[in-house]
Formats: sequence, C-alpha cells, structure tokens
Amino acid sequence: MTDIANNLNLIHTGIATATKIAHRPPDSVKLLAVSKTRHENELRQVWAEGQQDFGENYLQEALDKIAALADLDICWHFIGPIQSNKTRPIAENFSWVHSVDRFKIAQRLSDQRPNHLAPLNICLQVNISREKSKAGILPEELPALAKQIIELENVQLRGLMAIPISSDDPELQRQPFAQMNALLQTLQQRLPNETLDTLSMGMSGDMEAAIHEGATIVRIGTALFGPRDYSK
Ligand SMILES: *Cc1c(COP(=O)(O)O)cnc(C)c1O
Repeated sequence: MTDIANNLNLIHTGIATATKIAHRPPDSVKLLAVSKTRHENELRQVWAEGQQDFGENYLQEALDKIAALADLDICWHFIGPIQSNKTRPIAENFSWVHSVDRFKIAQRLSDQRPNHLAPLNICLQVNISREKSKAGILPEELPALAKQIIELENVQLRGLMAIPISSDDPELQRQPFAQMNALLQTLQQRLPNETLDTLSMGMSGDMEAAIHEGATIVRIGTALFGPRDYSK
C-alpha cells in the first residue's frame, strides 16, 4: 500500500473510532482532503482511493488543479481567505466555500454563481478564539450576518467553520468546538427553515476533539499527505 493510501485508511479508522466514542453514526462525518501545496498527482492518488472532496486555500493554485483534474468527479471546496475582486472564479468553480465572513463576499458569490449550477454551499467562518489576526466573524455578529445571507438567491447557507487556537490538550481543544456547536444550534433555532447541517471543524491535530463536539466535516491535510513544503 502507498503511504497516502495507508494514511487515508488511518484517518478513516480515526473517524470511525471517534464517532463511535461520541455515539454518532460513522457516516455523520465527511473527510475533506486539504490539498494545498500538493501536486495534482497526489490528488489523483487520493481520488483513486475513493476520496471525492478536496479543499484548497489559494485560488490560482486551485484553479490550475481544477483544470488539470477536470476528468475526475471531484467536489471542490474553497477554504482560504477571499478577496472581493476574486469571487467570480470561486463562484464558477467550487461547490462549497467554508470561509465566508462578510456580506459583501456572499453577495458577490451569489450574483456571480452561474445559473446552470446548483446554489453554492457556504459556511460562515467564525473567529471562535477571538484572535486579532484571524479571519472570521465574532460569535455575536453571526445572527445578523446569517439573516442577510439566507436572502441571497444563489448561495445556500449550510453552517459554520472555525480554526480555533491550536492546543495539544484534548480538553482545551474541545472547548471552542463545543462553543461552535452551541452557536450552530442557536442559529438553527432562529432560522428553522434553513438546512443548517454543517460544522466544518477539526484538522490533523484536533480531529477527534472536533468530532466529539459535533463536527460534520473535518479538514485534513498533513495527516493525509504528510508535512507541507511551502518552499516549492
Ligand atoms: C491547511 C488547512 C487545513 C489542514 O490542516 P492540517 O493541519 O494540515 O490537517 C484545514 N483547514 C484550513 C482552513 C487550512 O488552511
């Protein structure tokens, strides 16, 4: 077995174990393969093992891979920072965007989503650890933004995303994820007609904690592909 196939197996086993411990169905967590900096051939390899969802952070790099892998039936997720003058290619090429944190971006994505495609699935990125330098809205800003966004035609609000402050302590890891879960539940109560079914949280170092607190999409890069090399 290749390293990548082996890693993928380990991640699936990890998801199965974590969902079991949390008394959740095994298929309630989707694996998003985070493929930033990875060569298209590595993505092909993962795809050949049955992985369909891939997440990218950098638009130009993503567009190059989307073109190179057009023969594969991949579901592309955009998970990186969004500049408002770069929304069109995102609206045209992705099925999901996890990193929406202002109305203007959502509005442009909706306006620019081609009519022949299904509405773009979006998550609102929450700055759950209240870090000054981090993207995302603060929890108290969430209800007002969500209310505006659900009025848009061509985007479908699906839930929330977060990248909490990292910690090696499983107990500390769980706190922000539990807060995210509570935020989503509050939003579900306020907007009962929406399909708010997504909590995009958990990366290689904190996947188990995120699943314990209700993650429905875990975004895994390093544990799947190995350490990233940004020098290339
Ligand atoms: C890079 C990245 C990940 C994956 O992180 P790993 O620690 O490599 O698993 C997940 N989410 C976002 C938003 C990222 O930028």
